[in-house]
Parts: sequence; structure tokens; C-alpha cells
Amino acid sequence: MLFSEVVAQTSLASRLREGVRSEKVAHAQLFDGSEGSGALALARAYAQYLHCTDRIPEDSCGKCASCVAHSKLQHPDLHWSFPFFKKDSSGRSISDPFQSDWRESMLDTAYFGIEDWLGKIGADKKQLFISVDEALEINRKLGLKAFHGGYKVLILWLPETMRVDTANKLLKLIEEPTDNTVMLFVSNSSDRLLPTILSRLQRIKVPRLSDAEAATGLLKLRGVSEDSAMGWVHVTEGNITAANRLARTGSETPDLELFSSWMRACWVRDAEAMMRQSNDFAAPGREAQKRFITYALHMVRQSIVGNYGAPSLVRLTPGEKAFLSKFSKFIHHKNVVKISSLLEAAHKDIAGNVNSKVVFMDLSVQIHILLRKEAA
Ligand SMILES: [Zn+2]
Repeated sequence: MLFSEVVAQTSLASRLREGVRSEKVAHAQLFDGSEGSGALALARAYAQYLHCTDRIPEDSCGKCASCVAHSKLQHPDLHWSFPFFKKDSSGRSISDPFQSDWRESMLDTAYFGIEDWLGKIGADKKQLFISVDEALEINRKLGLKAFHGGYKVLILWLPETMRVDTANKLLKLIEEPTDNTVMLFVSNSSDRLLPTILSRLQRIKVPRLSDAEAATGLLKLRGVSEDSAMGWVHVTEGNITAANRLARTGSETPDLELFSSWMRACWVRDAEAMMRQSNDFAAPGREAQKRFITYALHMVRQSIVGNYGAPSLVRLTPGEKAFLSKFSKFIHHKNVVKISSLLEAAHKDIAGNVNSKVVFMDLSVQIHILLRKEAA
């Protein structure tokens, strides 16, 4: 991945390249940024830059043998680790059985999150983690001689999923690295990292993208229209990874019409309409269902922003503004938390393969009760 393919983050990228050119390469670094910041994309571009044999100040060359291998994610001195689950009870629990899924995902996009990964490997509700065996395997891989005599690079995604015993197995490698080893930890929530690990990493804070940056990036990633890109970025509060996930479900724009008719049916407790809508809701598949729930959550939050929050936080299209000007009075401090957590729970249930018609019907009834709650 070239730096030019990373969305925004240009000054940080230029600092990273400068560090490589002046040979200030820490052997254990933390790319620390929330989902959608592009920390993973930056780590990939950085790894390629480390390996590029013909780098220029602005970027990797994109043409040398190393760059070509990176573009196919087949560089022998680039190692990957990430959370996974144990496929069967026999043998060691290492990431190897998942490496080809990972490579496919990374060839598709570096704007990739845990939800995409769960979907890719069919993990549903399984708890993903980085095992002790995997840490031993990392020690082994990084102990080998580099194929091309340069840096051996490890990109470890989501180190916060390491357990204490796993982290302990990596500590020695972090403290006394083998020659020419560079470990890049990419974290979405560094507050969950063990202090013993955190304190030993050189931290690179990757800031959030602005809405405009995320929308421009999404436009490039998915080729959607400008309005549509901004729509998805608003729904996901500027998280390009989540926006990318929603945009790929095929819908051009968020589901305002469906949401407004659903809220009307909930308000009057129109059972027939609720039933019809639960069928509509279930029809397009789980990705679209999750997208709709995410959108509903966005609209509920925006109702509150409109009622109590700063105008600068309002992220709405004119159509949505018109709808919320009437609807937002039904969302208030007495029901917003409950409605939000119901929607979040429904999202989880759908991701976990619970019957979506049942989820939707149940949600509709509960939201009816909450909408009828008096604000005062
Ligand atoms: Zn190159």
C-alpha cells in the first residue's frame, strides 16, 4: 500500500517517512487510532516504505520487487497477526488457518474493522483473541533470517485482544528484539492494552478524520456519489471504515423513508404495519438489516443533538432535518438511553444470527412504549 492510497493523514505520513529516511525506526511501535482513523492503512504503507528499495521522500516507488510483493501482500518479510478463534480442539491455536482470509480482506481494503473480520471468518458471536501459541509463533517467525536481508516487519492488528499470558510471551521480543525486527501494533482502543506492553511501545497517535476527509476518502474507495458519501459518513459519525461497510451493502442512500414509516407505526402501535415492516426488514439480508439499525441509532442520537446539543454536531441531510423537526420531540432524556441500548442490542442479535423478524417485532413493541413516555 502506498502512502498516496492512505486517506488524509498527510503530515503524520510525512513524519513517518522522514523517520525511515533518517534511520530512526523504533523496533516496537503502536499505531494508535480509533476505527476509521486509518491506523492500519498507515502501518501498511509504513511497512512497504521500510522494504522499498527505491523509495523517494514522498512515497514508496511502487515498482521495485519489494513494492510489487507488498501490493500482492506476499512479501516474505512482512508477517501478520490478528485476533482469531480456535477452529478445532486439536493442535496449536495459531493464525495460520486464517491467513488467506486475512490476505483477501487486506487486498480488498485497509479500511477494515472487527465487524468486517467477524463476518469474513464466520465467527458470529465467538470471542476473538490472540493466543499464547500465536505469540510463540511470532517469536519463531521473527527469529528467522530475513529473506531479503532487510527489515523483518510484523503488523499485529488489535493487540488489545491479547491476554496477559500472550502479552508476556511477546514482552521479551519487544524488550530484546532480534536483528532488524520492526513490530507494528495497530490498536483501536489502546486504553485496553496492558500497561506492560503499552509502556514499551513508541506511540504514534493517529487522529480521527474530519467528516470531509472521510467523505472524500469514501468517494475514492467505493466510487459512490458525493452526497451519498457524506450521508454514510454522517451516519457513522466520521468513521470511514464503518461508512465503507454500510456503503457496500448496495444502498445508495441511508434509509430515511423506512425509518420514518417505522417510527410512525411504532408511535401508533400499528400491528399490521409493524408486521409488514418486519418482513421488509428481514428481506434484504443481515448486512442491510445492520445498516438500517445503525441508521436508526444515528437518527435517535441526532434527535438529541438537535434538542440539547451543539449545532456543530448536527449531521443531517435536508430531508432528515425536515423529518426530525417533527419527530425529535419524542426523543428526550427519559427515553434516549433505553432506545439506544435497545437498538445496540438488536444490532448485536442480528450479527449473532438471531431471527431478524423476531428481533424487529420485539424492538418495535418496546420502542412504542418508550416513545409514549412523557418527557416531563
Ligand atoms: Zn519500491
